[in-house]
Amino acid sequence: MAGRQTAEWLKGLDVMSRVAVIRCDTYEREEVAAAVRQAAQSLGTEIASSGEKVLLKPNLIEALPPEASGTTHPEVVRALVGLFREKGAEVYIGDSSRFGNVGNTSKAFEVCGMARVAEEEGVELVNLEADDVIKETPERDILQKIYPAKTLEAFDRIVSIPKLKTHMLMKFSGAPKNLVGCIPGGGKALAHAIGNTTEKFARMVVALTKVLKPSLSVMDGIWGMEGNGPVYGEPRKLGLIFASENPFALDWVASGRIGYEPREVEIIASAIEEGELVPEEIEVIGDKVLQVDFLKPTEEKARHILDHFLSRLSAVTFAVRVPRPTVDKSKCTRCGECVEKCPEGVISLGSRVKIDYSGCIYCYYCMRVCPEEAIVLTNPRMVKFVKRVLKI
Ligand code: SF4
Ligand code: SF4
Repeated sequence: MAGRQTAEWLKGLDVMSRVAVIRCDTYEREEVAAAVRQAAQSLGTEIASSGEKVLLKPNLIEALPPEASGTTHPEVVRALVGLFREKGAEVYIGDSSRFGNVGNTSKAFEVCGMARVAEEEGVELVNLEADDVIKETPERDILQKIYPAKTLEAFDRIVSIPKLKTHMLMKFSGAPKNLVGCIPGGGKALAHAIGNTTEKFARMVVALTKVLKPSLSVMDGIWGMEGNGPVYGEPRKLGLIFASENPFALDWVASGRIGYEPREVEIIASAIEEGELVPEEIEVIGDKVLQVDFLKPTEEKARHILDHFLSRLSAVTFAVRVPRPTVDKSKCTRCGECVEKCPEGVISLGSRVKIDYSGCIYCYYCMRVCPEEAIVLTNPRMVKFVKRVLKI
């Protein structure tokens, strides 16, 4: 990406994939700050230069309170704000939560405690939910119509700050997977539809990581989530902060600490295949820690059957479950702004504004640019039907 700092490991230099593992027992502010500082410093790398714009990217998958352990704890993010500020960097916190409705990310900022940290530290929040996209990136053959948010171009560095979690589909949710939140709106659902097997989705996550080039990854593993993560599991204490310049190396070490054979995690296997991770070169530094076996997702055994099933159905289910942008005729002034700005050129202006959903990437940028707020999200009929039946 133009103007972006390239992490050392992506320059193809002969560097070791160092992973710092530092003990941290509580979310007390001083304790977290000390552990995060020790983790970053022990990597022996310059985390930023003065004047650089740095985006801290926590995992805010849903509007869950910090104690649910489904999202990155705000104190870990606060610690990184302090560290990067010491280097003279301009720091921002940004994400795009799970698709479903525009407004999810603002809600997540509040409920996850990120808005409070941002206010107390004087940091701007960056909502990537409804955004234009960067279309000219490498890895197009794998990513196809999955594009990162255009706003990311404004930053010199992206720092991935994942929460340590099990994952019902991908087994483990770590630093590379966290970057899926850099895809705006329903594009995340589209990624699951295009990457409709765990193997394809893993390749997509690896490709996205290569495009976004996070310069540092710091994982909140103080409390993680076990069982049916990334949102339906239970909190479990591990008491660790992990840090690395190589997000795949970080996942290798962290997934091993909770009882996975890392090569079984498809994102890690795919990174090895792509040459992004050489396990023999991983150097673990910091505290000696014991393995804590997290409960694995109960759905894991059914995963391969599901894979098979979903690979045939995901394109269809995508069309019936992901909210679509639709035009409220009573508000539309036919100004043409959405037609001009739609990155895929699928909006046309005839006697009325029309969206060709077959080419839509569900970035929801049209909603952001419409001066009349005439574009709204509408649930497909199937979702409405299910909601009516289940009374939800
Ligand atoms: S931007 Fe809004 S008001 Fe303008 S044409 Fe599109 S939907 Fe209508
Ligand atoms: S119509 Fe265009 S701008 Fe709107 S969500 Fe689809 S691709 Fe994005």
